[in-house]
Amino acid sequence: MYMAEVELILAAPRGYCAGVDRAVETVEQALKLQGAPVYVRKQIVHNLHVVADLETRGAIFVDDVTDVPEGATVVFSAHGVAPTVHSGAEQRSLTVIDATCPLVTKVHNEAKRYDAAGYHMVLIGHAEHEEVVGTMGEAPGAMTLVEHAAEVASLPDFPEGQPLAYLTQTTLSVDETRGIIEALTHRFPWIESPEKSDICYATSNRQAAVKELAKVTELVLVIGSANSSNSCRLVEVARDAGVDSYLIEDESEIDPTWIGDRTKIGITSGASAPERLVLGVIEWFRDRSDGINVSELETVHEDVAFQLPRPIRRALAMVAVEPVTKDL
Ligand code: SF4
Repeated sequence: MYMAEVELILAAPRGYCAGVDRAVETVEQALKLQGAPVYVRKQIVHNLHVVADLETRGAIFVDDVTDVPEGATVVFSAHGVAPTVHSGAEQRSLTVIDATCPLVTKVHNEAKRYDAAGYHMVLIGHAEHEEVVGTMGEAPGAMTLVEHAAEVASLPDFPEGQPLAYLTQTTLSVDETRGIIEALTHRFPWIESPEKSDICYATSNRQAAVKELAKVTELVLVIGSANSSNSCRLVEVARDAGVDSYLIEDESEIDPTWIGDRTKIGITSGASAPERLVLGVIEWFRDRSDGINVSELETVHEDVAFQLPRPIRRALAMVAVEPVTKDL
């Protein structure tokens, strides 16, 4: 397939968020500081390329802390873990480096506070997603999961006045979640909400950006892995906005029939997809067209950054001090 000149419009913001950046750097620094192998519970972030790259550098991804040799170091992924995972690690005398995104920790803290105050919680999220499993683990007997607005009708008849609150997974569709919240507040008008939305800044910014992108393009390609919740939501948001949209792991998954005679193509990437994958997609178009014109559509400027986990900061500080000590 060969195309006429194509206009590629890149959404901004796109790609890595502060939580993913921190989690990936945590594993990279752990590998530098203590050498391979470094054990990581679950995929550090939901991206196959990132995981494969870290594996070649010595990271070993495991499903459970019981797969980590006793006394070794284990990194917990950005999605957060249930308290039972922490106690499992303690029983095996593991050194834990917790790369849970601070915005996921915020939801865990809300769950702990509501649980301590005797609330029942409705968690809006996707069953089986690691973040949901971790959050539900904070109060297993006091939380009910809801995935769709239709499920609100089948929730128990909580008596009026029973302390009730809802929380959400951080990477949901802002629009779809609004519908679930409306159904909840309609059925339980006294239900309480977190002070600030649990859907994180990166998720909402990327969705707002893809909506604008959909207005000026004929097709939106979303780069991300199939298990990346926020990437899947970007495809849905683009489709809801009226354009064709597909999730691709990388340029090798582009189906030329999607493009046909379309000349305005939007590109974005999920919060766990590295920028080099965007460059790969741009090159794919360059190699198959009379020319490409690349521009960026920025809807908001992001400058969020999170500190690395404390054990990594402490180790880095010690490495920085060491040469000075030797010189003395
Ligand atoms: S998507 Fe949001 S909650 Fe998830 S790691 Fe990124 S900033 Fe944190």
